Amino acid sequence: MQDARNDFDVVVLGAGTAGAAVAWMLARAGRRVALTDVRSFHAAGARWVNGVPPWMFDRAGIPRPEAPERRPGDGPFSLLGPSGRKHVTLSPSPVWSVDMRLLVRRLQRMAREAGVVPVERARLADVEVAGGRPRAIVLGVEGRGGSVRRRLTASLFIDASGLAAALRRRVPLLARDCPPPPRMHVCTAAQAICRVRDAEGARRFLDRYDARPGEVLGQVGVAGGYSTGNVAVASDFDEVDLLSGAIAGGASGMAILDAIRGREPWIGERVFGGASAIPIRRPYDRLSGPGVALIGNAACQVFGAHGSGIGVGLVAARLLADAVGAADDPGDAAATWAYQHAFHVELGGLLAGYDLGRRFSQNLSPDDVEALLSAGLLDARQYAAALDQRLPAVDLAGILQKPRAALRCPRLAARLGPVVARMPLILRLYRRHPERPDERALAWWSRGVARQFNELPDVAA
Ligand SMILES: Cc1cc2nc3c(=O)[nH]c(=O)nc-3n(C[C@H](O)[C@H](O)[C@H](O)COP(=O)(O)OP(=O)(O)OC[C@H]3O[C@@H](n4cnc5c(N)ncnc54)[C@H](O)[C@@H]3O)c2cc1C
Repeated sequence: MQDARNDFDVVVLGAGTAGAAVAWMLARAGRRVALTDVRSFHAAGARWVNGVPPWMFDRAGIPRPEAPERRPGDGPFSLLGPSGRKHVTLSPSPVWSVDMRLLVRRLQRMAREAGVVPVERARLADVEVAGGRPRAIVLGVEGRGGSVRRRLTASLFIDASGLAAALRRRVPLLARDCPPPPRMHVCTAAQAICRVRDAEGARRFLDRYDARPGEVLGQVGVAGGYSTGNVAVASDFDEVDLLSGAIAGGASGMAILDAIRGREPWIGERVFGGASAIPIRRPYDRLSGPGVALIGNAACQVFGAHGSGIGVGLVAARLLADAVGAADDPGDAAATWAYQHAFHVELGGLLAGYDLGRRFSQNLSPDDVEALLSAGLLDARQYAAALDQRLPAVDLAGILQKPRAALRCPRLAARLGPVVARMPLILRLYRRHPERPDERALAWWSRGVARQFNELPDVAA
């Protein structure tokens, strides 16, 4: 007989932002929810500072961060080319700096207060699948006296375990259609808050870029097309915020960050931060199956243009909770499909469209990046939209109205044109994701998406 203490409506694997948020939302919808993590909860999820557009908290129905979770220093955001030349300044920055340690803790606290059962330091040992649907998971839970076996049953299992994708790899339908992203679609990133050792040195650094304290200097193309190294000196010259990222397999985010620290001796010791890999391919076409759903990094729900997954994961949590929260069986195929449909219609096209742009940028040399920015092919409005994770204000027609910019770098404009031209098609395609469970229609839709990316489809026919 099933032990009532281990029988839930929903079990969520991964207590980072996406997992803790969806656990909270589903408990608030009256579901019995367990939230598990392989780590202690206080070490779960992102442990660094992330930029998140505030609108995404509103869309997810999560109160916006306040200080100290929201960090000071939301000054202007400047885009620099590989040469160090400043091309665009957005003031104020459309994104808020958020201390992820505090956001994760807040979401976990909200989940506990809503009745979510926490299961920490729990290693997934087995997934029991019957009729293609997961029915139970077996965990090895670390305690003072060693590891204890615990078997949890549920109607719905949610994989929010990040790149580890603990459940996705073990549920046959998802393992087939959602393979781990290859290195070319993974970004390695590093972030650190460091002390300013020498305020004069920091001032000289800012003068070099005609920048002011609090301004984010985001230099792109530092190690190939898709790479960045950001530096923001706090207004009080106490701390400096460093962020870096690049495609896996080349210079790592950590190496870029170390290079910045090596070049700038005024940067002192690290206060906190972290480094990890981020999947940057478009979200999987299949985000769910009977009894199972993917969210967050496990679903590749990341705004690939700059590797941002926090806001998208939170909005995905809302869409999932709304789709399954009130269903008789939250793991029913129609309920989980409704989540997949809602996600792709609302955000899938946006993420896939920007993913095309990301793939384009990945093949650019640093000189190409500089030329593109110098020509004005990417302007402030487009850059602001990208940081804000929204559609650019200028569409294909707008781009075509930029003949002077295109004439300044015709070779790159000729390469960029077809990419931009595909974006409206992609947006339209994602709005047509099949509304009801229909495997043939999904495979057909998946083929259409794959064609835009010149790839094989995710979903097998
Ligand atoms: C340096 C850096 C900077 C970044 N900057 C930004 C930014 O500015 N803006 C932004 O939006 N995003 C940013 N990102 C990306 C963002 O941090 C991730 O997209 C986000 O953390 C993903 O959230 P998640 O909840 O899906 O997964 P995670 O945060 O990875 O959490 C997954 C959780 O699952 C747990 N887990 C793993 N395996 C198991 C298992 N078998 N069972 C149970 N639990 C398991 C892990 O311990 C972890 O706690 C950055 C990433 C890095 C590395």
